[in-house]
Amino acid sequence: MASSSTGRCRWRVVLLRQPNREEEYEPPRRYCNHGMVAWRWTMWTDGNPGRRFYGYPLYNQDRACGFFSWHDNEFGERANTVIKELLDDIDKLYDENCNLRRAKHGQRLGKDIDAIHGELRKLKRRNELYDRELRKGKNKFKVAMTLLSFTCVWLCVLYLKI
Ligand SMILES: [Zn+2]
Repeated sequence: MASSSTGRCRWRVVLLRQPNREEEYEPPRRYCNHGMVAWRWTMWTDGNPGRRFYGYPLYNQDRACGFFSWHDNEFGERANTVIKELLDDIDKLYDENCNLRRAKHGQRLGKDIDAIHGELRKLKRRNELYDRELRKGKNKFKVAMTLLSFTCVWLCVLYLKI
């Protein structure tokens, strides 16, 4: 399967790794330099995958006051490596799942096309039958017309003789 066709699947995994945020979390509440309730975010950088921190609701925008405070202690190098490997595994599974679904969809399409071809063949056969019937009818009509004209001629001859 072409890797370029897995774009949509990748998008979902990227979403999963966006810095997701929690507006509600267990106390104590943290407040930023503005006195606003700080949200809790999850970092998904290579250096801190899955590590949570507190930040102003718009921490990643221009209006942020710069408030930043970690919630989790540093995970350590080994933990970070394991988390990244697990995320890679999720990526692979998403891709596999996506490709399997595409293949299944392709099979279904193939079956539909086969069914359409079958119907088309049936219609053609019926068409041929109608055509033959029509030709038979035309022939019968010709025979009838010929017989009728012979009868007319014969009657005229008889009439003239009488
Ligand atoms: Zn602030």
